[in-house]
Amino acid sequence: MNTTLLLCGLTAAAGLLFSPARGQAPAPTPARITILFDAFGPSPGPRLDWGFAAFIEYGGRRVLFDTGNNAETFAANAQALGVDLTRLDAVVISHRHGDHTDGLRHLLRVNPQVRIYAPRDEYFGGVTPAGFFRRAEPALPARMRYFQGQVPARVPHGSPWRAAHLTLVDSAAAVLPGFRVVRNLAPTGQPNDETPELSLAIQTPGGQVLVVGCSHPGIERILASVAARQRPVQLLVGGLHLVETPRVDQAGAVSSFSRPGNPYNNAQAEAGWSTLKIELLPGNASFASLEDARLEIAWYLDTYFNLDRRHSALGYRSPHQFEQDLKINLP
Ligand SMILES: [Zn+2]
Repeated sequence: MNTTLLLCGLTAAAGLLFSPARGQAPAPTPARITILFDAFGPSPGPRLDWGFAAFIEYGGRRVLFDTGNNAETFAANAQALGVDLTRLDAVVISHRHGDHTDGLRHLLRVNPQVRIYAPRDEYFGGVTPAGFFRRAEPALPARMRYFQGQVPARVPHGSPWRAAHLTLVDSAAAVLPGFRVVRNLAPTGQPNDETPELSLAIQTPGGQVLVVGCSHPGIERILASVAARQRPVQLLVGGLHLVETPRVDQAGAVSSFSRPGNPYNNAQAEAGWSTLKIELLPGNASFASLEDARLEIAWYLDTYFNLDRRHSALGYRSPHQFEQDLKINLP
């Protein structure tokens, strides 16, 4: 089961945009996450239901993450949002729960050849752990023992998606250039400690974009598994199972991307926010309307801040001047 939270106050967005770092050339192709399946969303908008699915476009790649709780709703939402499920570079299924997998019935009808990454889990056609079979029962007649006492070294499990092109992931795998999945499992004794789960980390110039299914292993554990080896996480999207405040407290989560008690990770964003407010809204003024705010902030960032404002990091030159100086001084 899944409860979805989108961080950064984006719960009402059916499509999320993430951008390259400032100073990078704009991506020539969409950099976008379209939420296909969720119990949150705008009205009018896609049909709401329990579960999660997201369609990711980045770097010219098209990746589907999970398929929602109901194949018919999944199909209808994909069509309504203009997502062509016959054109996918890869699919990632986070874990075996039905609210993330039911849409596979539709996906495999329209795109049976697509490569699907799933956690190694007997439900996706792994093997039954060898220790499950009790081998030494010599007192019993053969017909009362597993496989008449001759247990095969490997006992593959069946799967509802036997015909699918599944790649089962043990710990981590590269799905496509810049797209990587990591597999995590909750500690023994925690809820769903038998349900391994994949999370998808996308490398962007601004940091990692992390897409998660239910976060049964615990979002802290998932973040730690991707943070150690790559850039900081820029954006986290998906299901967290943390919608009830007491559970947020129990999990020790903090509403910040910083390490607990360490404001350094937020310092640049907060400094930028402070500058914007002082220069755009002097004397605690406020915008006349939401539309006014959109226009003012867009003008401030695109026309003034990124071109003409002098920056201490550039030796108190404007980005425009800095670029001119750089061209003059090129070897
Ligand atoms: Zn789940």
